[in-house]
Amino acid sequence: MVIAVDGPAASGKGTLARRLAAHYGLPALDTGLLYRMVARALLDASQPIDDPVAAAAMASRFDEAGFGEDVLRGREIGEAASVVAAFPGVRSALIERQRRFAAQEGGAVLDGRDIGTVICPDAPVKLFVTATPEVRAARRHRELAGRGEVATFAGILADIRRRDARDSGRSDAPLKAAADAVILDTSALTVEEAVAAAIDIVDRRRRV
Ligand code: C5P
Repeated sequence: MVIAVDGPAASGKGTLARRLAAHYGLPALDTGLLYRMVARALLDASQPIDDPVAAAAMASRFDEAGFGEDVLRGREIGEAASVVAAFPGVRSALIERQRRFAAQEGGAVLDGRDIGTVICPDAPVKLFVTATPEVRAARRHRELAGRGEVATFAGILADIRRRDARDSGRSDAPLKAAADAVILDTSALTVEEAVAAAIDIVDRRRRV
């Protein structure tokens, strides 16, 4: 069973994808990390992140094993990832890795922006996880504070709005719910309530 989990930044999709994977005993891939790795690799090599040719070349040669999650999760890398993610050459270089992961025997859970629309359009279960920008900014604010990163709520809210606009406005694989995705708004839900709702959605889909 392939479960596709899409949604905007800090919507809770990563947590839900991990929890669904644990619940159903499936491997999970956070596809945002791939875009973050491309951005990180460009910055580490002192290359510009806004050059589509350099970014596409890096996307086809970087080594996934070369990065700890701590160097990928920062605010600056999220922003840079969304810049490189808008380049079609970067996206096409990353498609095969993601599809190979999804094709594992038994299935997998993948989360990102275009899993239900582009990477796994035939996934039997698709969730589109969302929350208001203010709720997402508050979550990200807490997460960054926990990592010791200093940032104001207003600054994070501005980041989130800018990232939403870039991810939704790009021409290649924009952030949007697949026509057959179930929308899960986590704005007013605790993590446990959101997990229970997601499991309920998956179980209903599997029974159809
Ligand atoms: O999910 P995360 O915030 O880690 O993703 C970082 C950036 O990578 C996103 O803002 C988005 O631009 C890009 N991304 C994407 N497609 C995916 C996953 C992430 O374009 N499937």
